[in-house]
Amino acid sequence: MSSDLDTAAFAEQHIAKGIGRLTKHVFDEGRGTFITTDKGVKLLDLTAGIGVVNLGHCHPKVSAAAAAQCSKITHAQVNIGFSSAQIALLKELLPILPDKSLDTVFLWNSGAEAVEAAVKLARAATKKPNIIVMQGSYHGRTNATASMTRSKTIYGEGHGPLMGGVFATAFPYYSQFGAPSDTPTEELVNQALLQLKLTLQQSTSPADTAAIILEPVLGEGGYVPAPPEFLRGLRKVCDDNNILLIVDEVQSGMGRTGHMWFIEESGVRPDVLVFAKGIANGFPLSGIASSKKLMDLQKPGSMGGTYAGNAVACAAAKATIEAFREEKILDNVAARSKQLFSFLRDLKSSNTKAGNLIEDIRGSGLMVGVQFANPEVQRDSSNTASRNAQSQPQLAPKIVQECVKRDMLLLSTSVFDVLRFIPPLTITEEELSQACGIFKESLEAVAK
Ligand code: PMP
Repeated sequence: MSSDLDTAAFAEQHIAKGIGRLTKHVFDEGRGTFITTDKGVKLLDLTAGIGVVNLGHCHPKVSAAAAAQCSKITHAQVNIGFSSAQIALLKELLPILPDKSLDTVFLWNSGAEAVEAAVKLARAATKKPNIIVMQGSYHGRTNATASMTRSKTIYGEGHGPLMGGVFATAFPYYSQFGAPSDTPTEELVNQALLQLKLTLQQSTSPADTAAIILEPVLGEGGYVPAPPEFLRGLRKVCDDNNILLIVDEVQSGMGRTGHMWFIEESGVRPDVLVFAKGIANGFPLSGIASSKKLMDLQKPGSMGGTYAGNAVACAAAKATIEAFREEKILDNVAARSKQLFSFLRDLKSSNTKAGNLIEDIRGSGLMVGVQFANPEVQRDSSNTASRNAQSQPQLAPKIVQECVKRDMLLLSTSVFDVLRFIPPLTITEEELSQACGIFKESLEAVAK
């Protein structure tokens, strides 16, 4: 591995330290599943820029659409007039949304901004102040979304006071309860729904609660898909109490989980869907979709922003959706997901030192998490206290660095010991087997 220390030294001097980053590489070019640094190092990218370049870096159709838009109009300001690029995008986007009732859209730039837009909508529509979030959730780093984020304290630490009116309830994730990894799903769901009932009795009453928001696959909090029974349970609680259900598919959406939207699998209708990341394959675009009935409750002028739904990003998003269809991306997600799960399961059951480190393999499509066993817990698997003490990832960060040494980018996540596989959805069979090989070598290096 070669490094980019000289250019990186300049960057370190002049770019905010608060960003924090995995490597000192300087990314210069991206094609498909690979990034090349300015020193010519070719990196296998299993992060897809945190689930953004779902069609791979610089997808030709998306780049061409953005380039064409650049010579048409780049900034069609939405508080001044309608944008033809937005209108063209909506004609492609509306038919792929998870429910017909989601017929009205507000476009913005980043995921966090879109989450904030969803909160504003919920408060305005219900005339109630409070929001319930899931323990372990990640919704962004702005003041409001840091307040709604419960995956790690670092996002809010030292930045308070954060937005008020936010209450956390349990997500059905075994580590969150200090339970063993083989705890039956039904038990976890019952526990989580009981916690929600208590949250509404003890912390924020239905009369004060505007919305429940969740990532249907817990992302930064540990890559845990919500069981369909949990999603249906939430829908019922929302229906019974005049609370809106906001589904944040910023990371899990746009084909990532093998469905266009993960929520589709459960048949649950969100009142508000939040999307970003993969929607424009690397161009900054996000948004919310809801019913016209709810959206029309907001006063004209209360929403918007200088760059909201930028025309170039809209053109890129339209091309992204078209390419999804033309290239049958969901078929590749299904095939590569099968390949990845079978590799990981074989490794876990191989009865090798490396395989024995794996506690849990989970996920959907190409949003796959691998959780490592805490050696303390392995020694005494009946001890809930020692399971609860596992709040410091031991192995995942080391494995990530071993992968980086082997020119592969892979991300860890959560306060628990979890690695996430989130490659471009266009990854080929050969590229994925190369990635699996590097992962295995890295795990073996750490297991020594
Ligand atoms: N919600 C979820 C589920 C996310 O994964 C993220 C980003 N990781 C966000 C919101 C925030 O998106 P952004 O970084 O674009 O603000």
